[in-house]
This record gives sequence, structure tokens and C-alpha cells, in this order.
Amino acid sequence: MVVVGGGLAGLSAALDLAEAGVPTTLVERRPFVGGKAYSFHDSVNGVELDNGQHIYLRCCTAYIALLDRLRLRGSMRLQEQLRLPVVDPRTQQMSAIEASAGVPAPLHLLMSILRYRHLSWRDKAMLGRAMWPMLRMGDRGRRRLDDVSFGDWLRARGQSDAVIDRFWDLIVLPTCNDRSDAVSAQQAILVFQLGLLRDPHGADIGVAKQGLSVVAEAALGAFQAAGGETLLGSAARALDHDGERVTGVVLGNGERRAAAGVVAALPPHRVAELLPEEWRGRFSALDQFELAPIVNVHVEWDRAVLREPFVAVLDPSVQYVFNRSLITEQDGPTQWVTCSLSGAHAEASMAQGAVAEAAIAGMRRAFPAAAEAEVLRWRVVKEMEATFRPRPGLGRFRLGTTTSVRNLLLAGAWTDTEWPATMESAVRSGQAAARGWLERT
Ligand SMILES: Cc1cc2nc3c(=O)[nH]c(=O)nc-3n(C[C@H](O)[C@H](O)[C@H](O)COP(=O)(O)OP(=O)(O)OC[C@H]3O[C@@H](n4cnc5c(N)ncnc54)[C@H](O)[C@@H]3O)c2cc1C
Repeated sequence: MVVVGGGLAGLSAALDLAEAGVPTTLVERRPFVGGKAYSFHDSVNGVELDNGQHIYLRCCTAYIALLDRLRLRGSMRLQEQLRLPVVDPRTQQMSAIEASAGVPAPLHLLMSILRYRHLSWRDKAMLGRAMWPMLRMGDRGRRRLDDVSFGDWLRARGQSDAVIDRFWDLIVLPTCNDRSDAVSAQQAILVFQLGLLRDPHGADIGVAKQGLSVVAEAALGAFQAAGGETLLGSAARALDHDGERVTGVVLGNGERRAAAGVVAALPPHRVAELLPEEWRGRFSALDQFELAPIVNVHVEWDRAVLREPFVAVLDPSVQYVFNRSLITEQDGPTQWVTCSLSGAHAEASMAQGAVAEAAIAGMRRAFPAAAEAEVLRWRVVKEMEATFRPRPGLGRFRLGTTTSVRNLLLAGAWTDTEWPATMESAVRSGQAAARGWLERT
């Protein structure tokens, strides 16, 4: 087998295939694995940074099982129970969305919602009108909502623009990488059902204490230990085929690699580039995907400006702030923090200095300690193709793992896992591709 793409989807597929005894080669374009989730040495600032802060939730069961399999739980920091502090820069008041210990879902959120200072009492009273139907909705009912925008669905249940902005989008934006108005209701509702409404621990938040590449590198190590072959820095240029089936891949240097089957663990438009012209019509769904950016602003302050590991900020130029010094257990007089900006269409086309300036100004408004502090260094990382956009109507174009070409399988966070573009979706898709192959042979 050849697995093309060394992101979490490709690594998961390759690992399962190799461990099942299938001779497998992993082909990755870049000289390192990890795809959208990696860390790198920032030579200008002399520190290791993630390409973008990644979180996972306790409901990400496939990702957590992978961490366990790679013995990486100790490299992670997972909350015992959900606590998400939220600050309003206009008042600098902090209020948290948090679970009450020992209380079943969804009542575990009730106390914190009653205490939540960033919504009016009227808005709080209206929240139930949207939460209750989500709680009762089954999988089929949810899937029927793919064509509807979550914003429209919420407004039809009495949610005001303020409550969408100050509550619903707080969760939708980082998980779906877009605002409620641009996201399919089926996609957003799945997030709330899995994370907040069905299990009191579903949304406990986890982060890596080390650079993010630790996961991909451990997966690569396990793959190689199982006998897998790796071609790093080697792009696939095309699929080789005999008209009916795939016969291998053509690499960038023209070398042909024969294979019994291929897993294309790539973003949708990259899969399309590899397909022979005569198969393009069968895979026209790939053209339906649009990609969306995430921008991260890494800032070193000359002193501690943040006490919590992370805080959501009701300011679009800041969004979520992560205390990297605390998370990575690197105490010192200075503090590294990372602002993660999802759905960052505006920031993606701004100059890096302007993005950093806006985020730093936003942090100064939100955190009194930052208002007094100096910025020592910063680095902006723009990921222009961070995720697919889960727009209304996209669900029907998310392709399954097995395809009409018998020995061509697909994997990637964008395939039909139902999850938004996450590490969980990537791992699930890769494992499904390996299963699909093993069941066919
Ligand atoms: C900044 C940022 C923040 C994010 N935050 C979160 C988060 O908090 N939580 C979360 O769960 N998810 C988050 N995500 C999303 C998550 O990282 C992705 O959904 C997931 O990693 C995608 O994995 P994948 O394997 O499907 O695809 P990719 O990671 O895109 O992997 C595809 C791989 O294929 C390689 N490739 C492409 N073309 C070729 C070719 N022709 N030949 C060989 N190789 C090729 C690429 O180099 C890449 O390594 C974030 C993403 C970004 C960018």
C-alpha cells in the first residue's frame, strides 16, 4: 500500500495498515510529518512554536485513544472538568463557562450560565429554547439540517445577535472555523451535542505540553517500528492506473511506485490534482470544498500577563489566548502567549505587523497586566488552508473512505466523518481507510 500524505489522517491509516502486517509506504511532500498540526523551531526568536495552537476535547475519543496508544497522555494536559474563562475587554470582567462537578449533562452547565456575566438575563432565559431541541435531536434530525445555516436555526429559536456573538460563536468559531451564519446547522449542532449537551465531560479541554509535532513524530516512529517505509520530502504527482484501478503513484522526481492500493490522505483539492482526467467527473464533489484560514499570533511579554492556561476574549482581534509558558511548564520572568484567530479571513490578507499590533492592543484592553507590560518578541503564523469551510449544504459532498475505484481510498479531516475539520476527524478518517482496505482484502 501507498499512503499519500503524512498528516494525522495519513499517519493513522499508515500505522493501522503496517500494524496489520500490510507492507506500507508513507509519501509526504514536506520533510516532516504532522500536516496541519506541527511545531517548528523559530530561528528568529530561538523558540519552538506550534504552527497554531491546537486543543482537543474529551469527546475526541479516537484522538485520545491514539495518544494512549503512542503513550503520550503524559505529554498532554486535559482538564478534569470543563472551565473556559471568558473576558469582556469593555469591562475587563472575567466569567467562566464551566461544569459543576457531579452534575449530569446538560444541567452541569446551568450554574455557570446563571452566573455568566456576558449575557443579559433575557438572553440567558432564551438559551434553553435552542439547547433543548438540540438535546432531543437524533442523528437523522440533525443530518436533515445540513442545508440550514446555524445562525438562521438559532434566530428561529429566539436567539439574539448578542447571544450568538457572546455565547454560540464562542464555541462555533474555534470548532468550525467560521461564524454561526456561515456554518451548517448540522455541523454546529453535532459539536454542541458531543461537547456540551450529552456528557458532562465531553468538552473538557486538552492541550499538548510539548510542541505539537510530538504526536505526529510518535505516530511515525510507531509506523516505522511496525515495518513501514517513509518517503519524506517526496510529493506524489499523479496516480498511476490501468483505467479501472490504481496501480501506484508517480512521484515528483518521475519515479513510479507500484502499489496494491493507495490511500490519498490529502486535502480535497490535492486529491483532485492527482486524479487522472477520466476519473475527475466521478470525484466532482472535491470541487465543492472551500478552505478557511487560521492565524496565530505568538507574543512574548516581559512579565506574566495571564494567570489562566487559556481565556476566550470577546474581541475579534484576540479570540482565544493561550498561556504557552504555563502550558509548556516553562516558568521564567517573561511569558509567551498565543492568540488563536479562527475564521481569520481579514487577518489572512493583512500585513503580519498589523495583525500582531491588533492582537497586542486587544490583549492590552482585555488584561490589566498586559496594559502595563512590554512586548519583547512576536511571530505571526498564517495557515491559509487550515480547514474546509463547513458551509450549509456541504455535508452531502463529504466523500466516504471507499470510492468507486476499488483500490483507491480517501482519508482526511474533510471526509464524511461528520466531525468538523479537527484532529479527531483526521484520525477517524485514517483509521476508517485502513479498515476499508483490510475488509476488502
Ligand atoms: C492553525 C490551525 C489550528 C487548528 N486548531 C485545531 C484545534 O484546536 N483542534 C483540532 O482538533 N484541529 C485543529 N486544526 C485542524 C487540524 O489540524 C486538521 O483538521 C488536521 O490536522 C488535518 O489532518 P489531515 O491529515 O486530514 O490533513 P493535513 O494535515 O492537511 O495532511 C495532509 C498532508 O499531505 C501532504 N501533502 C499534500 N500534497 C501532497 C502530495 N502531493 N504528496 C505527498 N504529500 C502531500 C501535506 O504536506 C500534509 O502533510 C487546526 C489547524 C490549523 C492549521
